[in-house]
Amino acid sequence: MNINEIVVISGKGGTGKTTLTASLIPYLEDLIIADCDVDAPDLNILLDPKIRSTHRFVGLKKAVIDKEKCIKCGLCERHCKFSAISKDIILAQSKCEGCGVCEFVCPTDAISMVDAVVGDLYESDTAFGDFVHAKLIPGEETSGKLVAEVRKKAKALALLNNKKNIVVDGSPGIACNVISSLTGASQVIIVTESTFSGLHDLKRVYELTKKLNLKAQVVINKFDLSPHHSEMIEKYCSENNIVVGLKIPFTKKIVRSIVSKTIPSVGEKEFFEEIGFFKFIDSLK
Ligand code: SF4
Ligand code: SF4
Repeated sequence: MNINEIVVISGKGGTGKTTLTASLIPYLEDLIIADCDVDAPDLNILLDPKIRSTHRFVGLKKAVIDKEKCIKCGLCERHCKFSAISKDIILAQSKCEGCGVCEFVCPTDAISMVDAVVGDLYESDTAFGDFVHAKLIPGEETSGKLVAEVRKKAKALALLNNKKNIVVDGSPGIACNVISSLTGASQVIIVTESTFSGLHDLKRVYELTKKLNLKAQVVINKFDLSPHHSEMIEKYCSENNIVVGLKIPFTKKIVRSIVSKTIPSVGEKEFFEEIGFFKFIDSLK
């Protein structure tokens, strides 16, 4: 079965990526929802999920020191390139990158590498379908692996329940967690805003989608706040054959919907009709 996996991303946080993702959800049938913004997940605020299962997520193996066996030779501290071990041989787990060098150099086998829980992955029910989401423990570094796990789980649920669409709230930026959000997606929506940095970040993230051979279109949020920058974004898109699928004006209507925890396209249907939102939805099916 072909699954239509739509991933919504942005070159940076705060552009309206999650608001747009939430707005798509009520209008795509046969849907599994996934939140891959595992460092700062917030799609759950608008979806009000009922968690039905929680899975502990093990990322890297991390070093543990057995104090009974340690002779305080200091070799581990000298060899750790991540400064995870102090002079008095105390290990800061949050700094450990799991390279295993300390275990290798320890003359008394005092160090072992053990599985470390770095976050939780949830499967939940929402009014719009199954929702897979996760939360990385603050300070942990393996968000790319957790993102891949969220997408894997969402795909398995889609296959199991014969769902043809997956909507993914992707991670912002261009780091490995974003690559994890994007690889193999059916289509990508890049949300940007009408500022100079919006254009700069759009260019970076679009180049990434190009390298990954993905079909991408652009949504310009709050386009009327700076018509000049909006024009620059549209010019860039036109020169690169990128479709601008939707332009959303700045309006308090959307802010009001979010504050009242209502999905904006549901709370302000007429406004969304006026800006061509439902035509945009049709283009995603
Ligand atoms: S596993 Fe690597 S990063 Fe972690 S404490 Fe040992 S040497 Fe440092
Ligand atoms: S290398 Fe092993 S024995 Fe030496 S200080 Fe580190 S833990 Fe202790």
